[in-house]
Amino acid sequence: MQNTEIKTTCSYCGVGCGIIVKNDSKNGVTVTGDKDHPVNRGMLCSKGMNLHYVVNDTSDRILYPEMRWSKSHPKERVSWDTALDRASAVFSSIIKKHGPDSVGFYISGQCLTEEYYLVNKLVKGFLKTNNIDTNSRLCMSSAVAGYKKTFGEDSVPIAYADIELADTFLITGANPAFCHPILFRRIEQHKEKNPKIKIIVVDPRRTDSAIAADLHLQILPGTDIVLYHAIGRRLIEKGYVDSDFVRNHTENYQAYKEMVMGSSYEKASKLCGVSVSDIHLAADIIGKAKGFISMWAMGLNQSAIGVDKNTALLNLSLITGQVGKPGSGPFSLTGQPNAMGGREVGGMANLLAVHKELSNPEHRKEVASFWGVDSISEKPGLTATEMFDALESGKMKAIWIICTNPMVSLPDARRVEKALANAKFVVVQDISHNADTAKFADLLLPAAGWLEKEGTMTNSERRISYLPKGINAPGEALSDVEILLNFAKKMKFSGFNFNNTEAIYKEYCLMTKGTNIDVSYLNYSRLKNEGTFQWPVPDYGHPGTPRLFADKKFFTPSQKAIFNIPTSIENTSELPSEKYPFILTTGRIRDQWHTMTKTGKVSRLMTHTPSPVLEINPIDAYKTKIKNGDIVVVSSKNGEVRVKAKVTDTIKEGVLFLPMHWGKQLDNDLNRTNNLTNTIVDPISKEPDFKYTIVAVKKY
Ligand code: SF4
Repeated sequence: MQNTEIKTTCSYCGVGCGIIVKNDSKNGVTVTGDKDHPVNRGMLCSKGMNLHYVVNDTSDRILYPEMRWSKSHPKERVSWDTALDRASAVFSSIIKKHGPDSVGFYISGQCLTEEYYLVNKLVKGFLKTNNIDTNSRLCMSSAVAGYKKTFGEDSVPIAYADIELADTFLITGANPAFCHPILFRRIEQHKEKNPKIKIIVVDPRRTDSAIAADLHLQILPGTDIVLYHAIGRRLIEKGYVDSDFVRNHTENYQAYKEMVMGSSYEKASKLCGVSVSDIHLAADIIGKAKGFISMWAMGLNQSAIGVDKNTALLNLSLITGQVGKPGSGPFSLTGQPNAMGGREVGGMANLLAVHKELSNPEHRKEVASFWGVDSISEKPGLTATEMFDALESGKMKAIWIICTNPMVSLPDARRVEKALANAKFVVVQDISHNADTAKFADLLLPAAGWLEKEGTMTNSERRISYLPKGINAPGEALSDVEILLNFAKKMKFSGFNFNNTEAIYKEYCLMTKGTNIDVSYLNYSRLKNEGTFQWPVPDYGHPGTPRLFADKKFFTPSQKAIFNIPTSIENTSELPSEKYPFILTTGRIRDQWHTMTKTGKVSRLMTHTPSPVLEINPIDAYKTKIKNGDIVVVSSKNGEVRVKAKVTDTIKEGVLFLPMHWGKQLDNDLNRTNNLTNTIVDPISKEPDFKYTIVAVKKY
């Protein structure tokens, strides 16, 4: 495929920027921002504008299937036929001997919607287990549960277009300047034109987002709910409640009011480490807003109380009636490009396609009937961390990992290594030999990457894009759809007679008919000819839906939004002790993506932060006799890392920060932050508590 030009979508974060890709024999693939795209209007961040380096450099690519006949044999090149014969034989024999729940699939928010749909149908409908989860469990599952509890369904109410209509932003537990750069650029541009616009940032670190803010609340980790309740109290006391909205469109306000009015500003200030005057100021800014948008990401979601943090924040939009109006609403910032698409097709262990619930017998029946199978198992599937627990204990025997690198990204990474080593059979389906998890594969399957296959994705604002195939995959790599269809054929499953990817999308769209995410009138042809659409798109002429709940009717049985009362206001993570006196919080840096299998091979992306660095406050550095640039050992109950220290007052006293990206290098795992992280998860969302691990630090 030479001298082509196509329009597609960036493969990194959930912002979902439009990209024009050119491919010619002289330059290979080159990328530019799509000026006509409604999301980025031609802008790209450092990651997006360097995507062509990732595509053009195929030196790390897995080119053909590799297999080992036993754990003591080295992997050898095999044909696709041999590879998938073995996969089907091993999976069939394990299921026969130990039952369907002895196998599991761990997939990714980078999978395209068709891939996500197909693998969920295969596993839940035909392998008869719900052991299929995604790395979105580490990212958005607390937000999903929060939306369900408040609005009745997993539903992001607003659009990026609301940014330019808002006058107040509360960015909490997120650093969009680094992690969602183009979205943040839109906020900055809006403020440049309208200087009176207010930005409040809540973060234990003075990030680039916080530097751009009018008010930075440098909160102590884990105290978000206390802060939101104090803000809620002030909003009520100062008469900022939208009484009409609360009376007519919400439930449980009285209980909420009683709870927050029982709180004390002084106590909140002490717990959060934020002054009473700043709490009041934040509430007054929010209360006076004509258009109030809250934005959040992993700082809320990756927590032992992540769901409660989400609902406590959503309550602030309810009190002020700032939902369903132009320029207002809560907005969860998705980390991955298609985490939202994955949720639509039921890509988690507790979900079914089209937002149906596994726990609902009617929903199970409907999905089973649509797929032409007898039933869907009622047993909840194992979530991401639970699957690796089950591999370690031997309850689960085989795992199929698609497009994700758990050996770096899951908490307590050394335990993940043990689990993979203990598994009877590990299939890794990926594009790169650089994925640390590939070393544990008994069967390594070469997958096509971005630009090398077609499909659809949904970004953070429910916007569905079609991604065309632009170039051929190297070697014998196949698209994930082709691999899964070939496996289904080997397993002799009916229901997989799809001639192409479009046919899979068609089946999914049909399934959405009559639901709240109805896209039954959407198809490849409309997406190719008319561009992107925000769901729902429930009829032929429908232009898509930028904003949900404009009619103030929510997806709950009463059609009212619900004020939720948290089970726990204070953090339930393990608190600092004499042995482990610091709180470690982890996150992303500007130019890296996940576990660096793609961005790590682009030299210009390595210059911003070439190696992991521990941020430590000057007071803590003084107490521990650590100087800027010292090599330090950070240790927790689970393991240790050895990195350089950066002494900086941008981080709150008592808190340390490490980036999450680095994995094992040269058989040394001391760069890997997730050696340290704890294994606590939120009791509802099962999302890990990455933002709060107690650690010790000392000079090496
Ligand atoms: Fe890609 Fe996100 Fe950057 Fe846009 S903001 S170019 S989607 S990484």
